[in-house]
Amino acid sequence: MSSTTERSLVLIKPDAVSRGLLGEILSRFEGKGLVIEALELRTMDAELADQHYAEHVDKAFYPPLKEFMTSGPLAAVVLSGDEVIDVVRAMIGATDGRKAAAGTIRGDLSLSNRENLVHASDSPDSAKRELALWFPAL
Ligand code: ADP
Ligand code: MG
Repeated sequence: MSSTTERSLVLIKPDAVSRGLLGEILSRFEGKGLVIEALELRTMDAELADQHYAEHVDKAFYPPLKEFMTSGPLAAVVLSGDEVIDVVRAMIGATDGRKAAAGTIRGDLSLSNRENLVHASDSPDSAKRELALWFPAL
């Protein structure tokens, strides 16, 4: 049996915190068997937003995304587990909550392509970059 323990950087976005969904979303990750290695309530500032979303800063959807992501506290979480990067991406579902499959976090709880509750690293390289940005001491 092979296993590949990895870490992923997950942000439980301001819409989730303000809607009172933090517990439910963390509970799904815990229920799956993933381990919460770090958890911090933070408010993203403009500089961190530009760094975190470096691949999107020139896109038309970025200004309202930045406004939303800096609008209030979010939960920054480090999850670990076997193939956690792909496992979490599957659990959160497609970007647009209106199109995300039922059974996924976005599919069950979001009706928006911006306010879609969760960010998660999408590859080992992005996980490494995002973990260094959010949790440099880890
Ligand atoms: P994901 O979070 O699924 O990896 P992307 O990296 O493509 O999605 O986009 C980052 C975030 O930007 C999304 O989670 C969403 O909040 C927002 N976003 C992406 N595309 C759009 C869009 N067309 N309109 C509004 N917001 C968007
Ligand atoms: Mg992305």
